[in-house]
Amino acid sequence: MQNINGKTKLYGLIANPVEHTKSPLIHNGISDLLGINSVYLPFLVKDSLEEAINGAKALNIQGLNVTIPYKQDVIKYLDEIDQEAKEIGAVNTIIIKNDKLIGYNTDARGLARDCKRQGVSFDNKNVCILGAGGAANAVAILCAKSNVNKLYIVNRTMSKAETLRDMIRMYYKSLDITCLSYDDIYKIDDIDICVQTTSLGMSPYIDRSPIDNNEFFEKLEVVVDIVYNPRQTKFLKDAAKHGVMIINGLGMLYYQAVEAYEIWNDIVISDQDIEIGYLALQDNVYSCN
Ligand code: NAP
Repeated sequence: MQNINGKTKLYGLIANPVEHTKSPLIHNGISDLLGINSVYLPFLVKDSLEEAINGAKALNIQGLNVTIPYKQDVIKYLDEIDQEAKEIGAVNTIIIKNDKLIGYNTDARGLARDCKRQGVSFDNKNVCILGAGGAANAVAILCAKSNVNKLYIVNRTMSKAETLRDMIRMYYKSLDITCLSYDDIYKIDDIDICVQTTSLGMSPYIDRSPIDNNEFFEKLEVVVDIVYNPRQTKFLKDAAKHGVMIINGLGMLYYQAVEAYEIWNDIVISDQDIEIGYLALQDNVYSCN
């Protein structure tokens, strides 16, 4: 990390818990690479979100990332919210500028950039999202913006899948969306891309996948698991056995951070520097695996 002085700009993440975050590694790594005089710190916010936000403003913090459990609650403390964050219904990035707080959500664009890098397009595809939680909202908005042909939302709790469908339809009225139970997805045979957004597959559920009938993978082209640790979840391993292209969640994590960095600094980071940062993150996360 470079020398900290009176001109160092401060950024951070507010979350609870915060100790396992990889965001400081990504952001401070990019600052080092680009020679930008800024520092990024994790902030544990136990309960008083409003005070944390006011404190950030008072301390001239330039920008914040926001994650669990504050992505929705933080909206009421912001002066403006970007259209995509509004559609997703959550904010993961705040820029503090001229005494104003403006909220963005970079999760969908993060996943879009990683898929593009890997040569995967959602355009005109039939996409299935497993899960209907916060991350699924961002993936569903990406699907809506990417001109998918059909969208299937599969969730254990059907009412949450229906709520997500209704939220998406508020903005994308003509999108063909079907909500399904896990039993029903085995009856569907026109899915091209499946995005796994549940927490199954990560610790302590590393032996679990939401898909228990592997015939499901036979007709798919691509599966994405937004979980990044372990590197290959059970879901990805099962898909790979059927010759399906697999993408894990590390790229989404990385590119949502790159997008935030670009918003805060009003820059476009070169592909070469982006690749260097990604390889450094990958080494750090998987060096023990
Ligand atoms: P969330 O809002 O809590 O949603 C969790 C989802 O998982 C819900 O749809 C829930 O279904 C489902 N689920 C949980 N346990 C299940 C089980 N036993 N069987 C079937 N479904 C189950 O969480 P989130 O914020 O969306 O995050 C989900 C995952 O995505 C986490 O692992 C998170 O780390 C990861 N993530 C990764 C990135 C990235 O950048 N790579 C970004 C965001 C999130 P019900 O509705 O039925 O409870």
